[in-house]
Amino acid sequence: MNVAENLNRIKAELPTNVQLVAVSKTKPEEDIMEAYKAGQRIFGESHAQELKQKYADLPKDIQWHFIGHLQTNKIKYIIDYISLIHSVDSPLLLQAINKEAAKRNVVANCLLQFYIATEETKYGLSLAEARQILESDWFKTMRNIRVCGVMGVGSFTNDIQQTHREFANLKETFDTLKACYFSTSSTFSQISMGMSGDYHIALEHGTTMVRIGSSIFGNRIYTNK
Ligand SMILES: *Cc1c(COP(=O)(O)O)cnc(C)c1O
Repeated sequence: MNVAENLNRIKAELPTNVQLVAVSKTKPEEDIMEAYKAGQRIFGESHAQELKQKYADLPKDIQWHFIGHLQTNKIKYIIDYISLIHSVDSPLLLQAINKEAAKRNVVANCLLQFYIATEETKYGLSLAEARQILESDWFKTMRNIRVCGVMGVGSFTNDIQQTHREFANLKETFDTLKACYFSTSSTFSQISMGMSGDYHIALEHGTTMVRIGSSIFGNRIYTNK
């Protein structure tokens, strides 16, 4: 695996409006530096403590994205420097992020994660739950959250039609929320969908951010997310 070659091959496939998040979870800092030297600046991690260490050690112009399930008690490890949290999957988490961000007088960029897959192990909101959040009085008073779009993780499946349906569904959710709640907002603009196995399909459905790990860095030794 040559990280720079992999990166360049993937970047050549992406339209200019699609951002590449290089998913470096479980990978050593040397691998991240290889990608960094090849020009990559956006990296995705899914464990708060692992991210905290990497942030401390690595160049400060890296934009760190949090893509995993975030526990409220871990927000404090990442809130000072995180560029984007992809995985807001509950009202409680959103409120907790707002609170931590307020303490530090920062605004946290977030995506709402939607449950689009068939696997019960995956996280995410339904459209109805998202509507409840966006229409609530408490949401309107939040000053330290910026909702930048939506995120979803497709099913782990060989059924290509299934993946097409899931990504079409997430795109539709984005369009609905945009029309109902963010029609005048230019910041609500991101659709984070597509991983190593399915990003080509995500491109067909209007993704703006692909999260790619193993196709850049090779397979992960252990597969916990
Ligand atoms: C691990 C992970 C990825 C990257 O997966 P690959 O299949 O290695 O590209 C993308 N998104 C999320 C949410 C992940 O947890």
